[in-house]
Amino acid sequence: MKYVLVTGGVVSGLGKGVTASSIGVVLKACGLRVTSIKIDPYLNTDAGTMSPFEHGEVFVLDDGGEVDLDLGNYERFLDLRLTRDNNITTGKIYQSVLEKERKGDYLGKTVQANAIKDWIEKVSAIPVDGKEGSADVCVIELGGTVGDIESMPFIEALRQLFFSTGPDNFCLIHVSLVPVLGVVGEQKTKPTQHSVRELRALGLTPHFLACRSAQPLLDNTKQKLSQFCHVPGANILNIHDVPNIWHVPLLLRNQNAHEAILKQLALFSVATPPNLQ
Ligand code: ADP
Repeated sequence: MKYVLVTGGVVSGLGKGVTASSIGVVLKACGLRVTSIKIDPYLNTDAGTMSPFEHGEVFVLDDGGEVDLDLGNYERFLDLRLTRDNNITTGKIYQSVLEKERKGDYLGKTVQANAIKDWIEKVSAIPVDGKEGSADVCVIELGGTVGDIESMPFIEALRQLFFSTGPDNFCLIHVSLVPVLGVVGEQKTKPTQHSVRELRALGLTPHFLACRSAQPLLDNTKQKLSQFCHVPGANILNIHDVPNIWHVPLLLRNQNAHEAILKQLALFSVATPPNLQ
């Protein structure tokens, strides 16, 4: 199994869900079977009892799971039928660990923080595209913003997953904001530099930056991001504001993001380029 992890920095609501779904679309168009997992680090068990005013509408899956709306994006973009276990929350992890611990399943051992990694490995193997056998690639979206205290155990579990799967099987895409300061009119890279530094301090180095901006990135902005964030220029993807989110997979395809991601995942033999029209 190959994993593509999508994290976010600077502010919430950046478009991580749309970016993750769109990456899934370009990979699927290259002939790969794709599944997805959404991690919501909040302590609630699921979205079923959360206020829609605060959280957006609840998406109900075929198995009755009440989950984050992003899973609706994954199902629509990728034509999948996800299960409630494809949405991981801190509440679900605690619940399952505590139930096991009370039953004595840990045989008296100290419970370590590998429940998250085990959950990801187990759920990514469930076929969700109507075919048999597990998918080729699992796109994992880590909700929230890097640095949130609730997401720390997940970051550590994902770091361990990266280490155990090896560099050819893991691709980290960090979605960040490149704002323009009104008076100066310049695209600012500092917020992205800081969020990449935060991510690296936690043991994860991004292979790609997906930059959200009002307008396309200028060449010198890209160069600066590359130099200060330690990411090759070809791996800096520009996801500027578009009138309709269905344009985002096309934006990625036009920047040859699929080729760079396949290269990172050592999938050289996969047919490209995808026809998304
Ligand atoms: P996150 O997962 O980071 O919270 P979402 O993927 O839910 O963010 O997106 C937040 C909002 O931004 C949604 O309303 C989505 O339609 C919108 N959005 C995301 N990407 C773009 C884009 N490139 N252009 C315009 N709107 C976007």
